[in-house]
Amino acid sequence: MKRAQKTLDVADWDVQLRRVMDIACRYWSDIGNGPVTPPGGYRELHQLLAQKLPWESTAVEDLLSEFEEKIIPHCTKIGHPRFLAWLLTSPSPAGTLGALLADVVNQVPAMYQSSPAATVLEEVVVQWFAEMFGFPGESGGILTGGGTEATQIGLTVAREVHFPGVMKNGMAGLGKIPVIYSSDQVHASVIRAAALLGIGIDYIKKIPVEQPFRLDLAALRKQVKEDRKNGLQPFCVVAQVGTSNTGAVDSLEYIGEFCREQQLWLHVDAAYGGAAVLTEAGRKLLAGIEAADSVATDPHKWFFVPAEAGCVLVRDKKQLWQVFGDGGEWDSEAVTDWMHYGIQCTRAARAFKIWFAFRAQGMRSMAEIVEQNMAMAREFQKRLEGASEWEVVAPAVLSALCFRRLPAKEITAAAVDQLQKNIVKIIADDGKALLNTANVNGALCIRVCFANHRTRWEDLDALMDILEAAAEQSLELEFFQTL
Ligand SMILES: *Cc1c(COP(=O)(O)O)cnc(C)c1O
Repeated sequence: MKRAQKTLDVADWDVQLRRVMDIACRYWSDIGNGPVTPPGGYRELHQLLAQKLPWESTAVEDLLSEFEEKIIPHCTKIGHPRFLAWLLTSPSPAGTLGALLADVVNQVPAMYQSSPAATVLEEVVVQWFAEMFGFPGESGGILTGGGTEATQIGLTVAREVHFPGVMKNGMAGLGKIPVIYSSDQVHASVIRAAALLGIGIDYIKKIPVEQPFRLDLAALRKQVKEDRKNGLQPFCVVAQVGTSNTGAVDSLEYIGEFCREQQLWLHVDAAYGGAAVLTEAGRKLLAGIEAADSVATDPHKWFFVPAEAGCVLVRDKKQLWQVFGDGGEWDSEAVTDWMHYGIQCTRAARAFKIWFAFRAQGMRSMAEIVEQNMAMAREFQKRLEGASEWEVVAPAVLSALCFRRLPAKEITAAAVDQLQKNIVKIIADDGKALLNTANVNGALCIRVCFANHRTRWEDLDALMDILEAAAEQSLELEFFQTL
């Protein structure tokens, strides 16, 4: 007997959609309660969720129940006020609504005709970033999956501008070896981009830093000179605006001047620190970014847009077309078929959630949140400096801070490192907060990063207590008692 074919439609989707909204409301209203990190380990979770390919259908209402019962309790609460690790930020709920609607209309801004509004909205949103960073009117850019892809695109353009024809002919015909420079604090995504571009990891030269962890321009000058003398071909400098460990910001004005003098491409990795440009203090720190050749920034970090959303800007939109286009004539008046401006073909309409998040908040108020995060880092630094047995290793520049517990009792360097790891682990296991460790000049540190619109000043009091308690608990462990 022939069965009626089941449609892909959800029969009572209005009811189910309301349930989705109920789940979302419950999740958001509870976001600050309970542990930041869920209990249980990887293996248990695997046992709970493992499943064979589902040949038979399950009712959507059952899936929603299962999601709420089995999956949500095992999600790390990235939106929790004391989620202060890495650079994952509490997303904007308005942005989440935008993301949901983006999935509903499922626009694919690859070609204008497939998604007219999403195509134009992406132009609008990219220009918002251009305006923020003081880029000129003819500048262009594209939304990406993140800072990694943004930097990949920026450096691809840099390579093609400096070595025209490589996109077509490959690297084999180049007479000289291309070299990229960055500080030794460079993010792994930049190194990956250099590797993928065929430049090679060894040919992204890591220049030493001066305090506070900024690229040392004199050392850069010396290295470029030496490399030219040795027949290499320097072509690009990547400056960091907010290194992920310490939030250090390179001196863009001086580096930019040097790049113009030496005819080098200046790419800025502003994945973390880009949002600081909204604030007065940040604009001073980031001065010179307006003169960069390309900038990578991350709406899904300190701009609070739900993942994934990155953005790359280049001074001249035509350059993106020349690298990623179909070889046709450039026409600045033509519609933007986004597939000709970046790596992806089928691509999500990321502009929607950014449009929601930015307009719902207003950039003035977004700036206040960023400013408050920076103030929290400075305040927390002061508290650590005022407390005994804590040492600030990397002071706050943006909103990250690296520090160590140094017990009064003399212990070995390895034991000091172990102590920091233990403190971070105890706190994560308890779920009272989430911090991470960072290696700063060989010193294993505890790192806290305030990039969270839900963190309140009271959370700083709580965090200090949480740290003290974890340090005490750790020092009571047999390992430290027997040293
Ligand atoms: C996060 C980050 C990146 C990479 O961006 P993704 O969005 O994670 O791909 C690059 N540089 C810095 C400094 C970052 O913090």
